[in-house]
Parts: sequence; C-alpha cells; structure tokens
Amino acid sequence: MTAGVDTSVWPPRYDPAYRPDPTADCWFPELECLSPETREALILDKLRRQVAWAWERSPFYRRKWDAAGVSPATLRSLEDLAKFPVVQKVELRLSQAAAPPYGEYLCIEPGEVARIHGTSGTTGRPTVFGIGSEDWARIGEAHARILWAAGLRPDDRVLICSFFSLYLGSWGALRGVERLGATAFPFGAGVPGQTLMAVEWAQALKPTAFYGTPSYALHFAETARREGLDPRTFGFRTLFFSGEPGAGIPATKRLIEETFGGRCMDMGSMAEMTPWMTNAECRHRTGMHLWQDLVYTQVCAPDTFAPLPFGAEGTPVYTHLERSSQPMIRLVSGDLARWTDEPCPCGRTYPRLPDGLYGRIDDMFIVRGENIYPSAIEDTLRAIDGFGGEFRVIVSRRETMDELLIRAEYAVSHADPARLAKLSATATERLRARLGVHPVVELVPEGTLPRTEFKARRVIDDRDLYRRALQEVRR
Ligand SMILES: [Zn+2]
Repeated sequence: MTAGVDTSVWPPRYDPAYRPDPTADCWFPELECLSPETREALILDKLRRQVAWAWERSPFYRRKWDAAGVSPATLRSLEDLAKFPVVQKVELRLSQAAAPPYGEYLCIEPGEVARIHGTSGTTGRPTVFGIGSEDWARIGEAHARILWAAGLRPDDRVLICSFFSLYLGSWGALRGVERLGATAFPFGAGVPGQTLMAVEWAQALKPTAFYGTPSYALHFAETARREGLDPRTFGFRTLFFSGEPGAGIPATKRLIEETFGGRCMDMGSMAEMTPWMTNAECRHRTGMHLWQDLVYTQVCAPDTFAPLPFGAEGTPVYTHLERSSQPMIRLVSGDLARWTDEPCPCGRTYPRLPDGLYGRIDDMFIVRGENIYPSAIEDTLRAIDGFGGEFRVIVSRRETMDELLIRAEYAVSHADPARLAKLSATATERLRARLGVHPVVELVPEGTLPRTEFKARRVIDDRDLYRRALQEVRR
C-alpha cells in the first residue's frame, strides 16, 4: 500500500532501507495525511491484532479482560475499545512484583528480550521494560518518521544531552536519529562538569540539533553564557524535547527559540508507551500531533476514562498498535491535555494537543479553591522581563488560610531596589490574574535556586494533612 512498509501483516513490516527524498515533507505521506475514516479502519485492523496478541500471551490481560467481560471477539469497532478496562501504572508494578522481572504482560519469551530499561523508581518500586529486538527496530522506524516531521534530515548532526542509563528517552531519540540517517552525537548528561564539556564540544562540532529536557537546555545556555558564548552561535536549527512539559509552555518555548535561534519542538508520551515520540509537534508547532496509527490515543475523562469529544480537557489514555513485547492497552497517563481535530498547515490529519501536556492530575494543587498548575506559573514568570530563570512554589497553611509563596529569581540586570520593587509588583499582579489567587512573591538573586539536569520538581506542598484528607475524599 505504501512504499517502505507492508501494513497487511501484523506487526507491520518496515523496509529498513527506505528513506524519502530529503525535500519531502512527510516520511509516509499516504499514512500521515489519510482521511479520518480510512485511518480509523487501519487503526481498528491493527488494534484487533494487537489485542488478540496480548490475549493469547498475557495472563495479566486475560484475567483483566475476562473479569470485564471483554475479549478480542467483542472488539468490533473502535468505540468498543472504551469497554476495555484501563491499566494504571501501579498494576504494572504489582504484576512485576508477583512475576519478576517483566510481569505477566510480557508477550514474548524472556530470552527474546533484547534491551532492559526502566524507571528510576523515585516515586515507588521501579518498573522494568523488556523490549524485543523487533520492537526496538519498529521504535526506530516510528521515531525516524516523527523526527522527519520535526524537520530533521540526514544532513543534521544531533547532540543528545540526556542520561544514557535506564532512562529510555535518550536511547529512543538516538535510535530514531540513527534510523533517519542523521549523525548522532550521544553526549549524555549527569556527570559533574559534563555541561561545560557539552558546551565546548558543541562549540567545536557545531551540531544542528539538540535533544534533552527544556530545563537542561536552559542550563546549557546559562553555562555557555558564563563562558562568554552566545547560544545562538551554536547554530541549532531544531531543538526537540521530552520528559517535561516545558517545550509546550508558550513562554518557555519562546525563550528557548530566542535563546538558541532554532525551532523548539515538544514531544513525548510515557516510557511505558515507547515509541514515546508518538505525541510530537510538526514544524508548524501547533501543539503535539497524536500519531494515531502508531499509538492510538484518546483523551478521556479522568474519573470514568470514557473518551471525550474534541475540544474537551482530560487525561490521555494510550494503546499500542504494533508492540509485541510489553504491549500497553489503555494505559492511563495521568497527564492533563485538551485535544482538537482542527487542521494543521502541515496537512497531517492527526488530532493535536494544542497546549501540550500542561499538567498532571496529581501535580495540580488547590489553593483557596482554585486549581493551580505549575506550568501556568512557569508560563507567567518566563514572560516577565527581569525574571532570573528559576523558581520554586511553596504551599503552606497559615492557621486556616492556604498561602502560596512563589520564590523567583531576578536577573542581574534588575538588582537595584527600584527595579526589584517594580518586578515584584508585576509578578504578583500577573500571577494573581492568571491563577486567581493572590501569591506572595519573594525575589532572590539569579543562580540561587538549584538547577536540574533532568526533570525539575518545583512545587513544595507543606499541607500534608490536607492532602491526605483530599485523597480520602477522592477515593
Ligand atoms: Zn502539523
């Protein structure tokens, strides 16, 4: 049907030698610009085979689906998928505890696992990812195709500045870059002094693309400036990101583009969902497209997990369509997003998350009755002239009132008392208008707050008793 891939078999068979002409906009134009009806037929066909694969091989899914009265036979339309129970991350951890190391949802022989990755386990027992070699090859195919839409071409040289460890992000980016035929420069991150070294190497090798987290890119730029280098002189044309929502936050995106002079592309779903780039922006940066024929994504109600219409806000629920080793069928992300099917100038017909993943159900905190997302605070601060680049949010309870303290850095250029007073007033007013709550703004000099090389944690909530009570109510 399409040059480069045979979709009549499952999993689809990709031609590893295929590559479009560098002037082409799409890797697989026929698949990326399909009419929604034709695409749904393709998705349903892949989904039925994916579900049958899991049903035959995974006691985890078999038990779960039996109890819910669903099976491959009851999956007659895409709407029927909503009757399949969702999978929560905690279930994966429990299944791995009961059947170590991969859990009862490994659908290949343990000996066929070609790569082991995992989560860091900072918020609980780590999760083990066992990936078969055929899956790994398909992950490369998916990421190459998506990076192509981000503007990457074989003549690009890609600096990968994130951890090469258990973390899947760096490896997934590397695999895609290699399959696309660009030059990979897997630099890594996390070793003391490594950021300065990365700056020096970038200066010498002039990479044209950058991958990492948004926080790390800004840290990289600060390090370069301390060396007297303007980050724009590196010549990055494309900077693509995952692991944090920053690249989808308008003010952060603008800041990254102004800092480096290249295009800032937001990407990423979840490590469990690898190929995780199936949420990804095209060059027009209209919010992440959902590459539905690779991973089928529905934005669902956070309480019932029923799919919501376009225009609604909810949590993305993801389903693999070509994963043989550890397929995820209806995995709940816990992120928050709005989705739309309004057209994008690129011509791809995939729906989009126009504001990216702007929060997590459990990141959101409530102060005096208002729902507050850390991403809204970041967006507001980064748009203010004189903001020094880093901030922390401290929520506490003073007697019966919640207090929202925002500790923000000021730029060296704003260090005199008159400018500080003005900065404080501007920040307080804009945050109040955006959040609906009057914050206390405390300004500290630029460089005071620790930078992160990975995922920033910026909210400290001192109201533990209150939080526990809230969780009881939700239950
Ligand atoms: Zn587009």
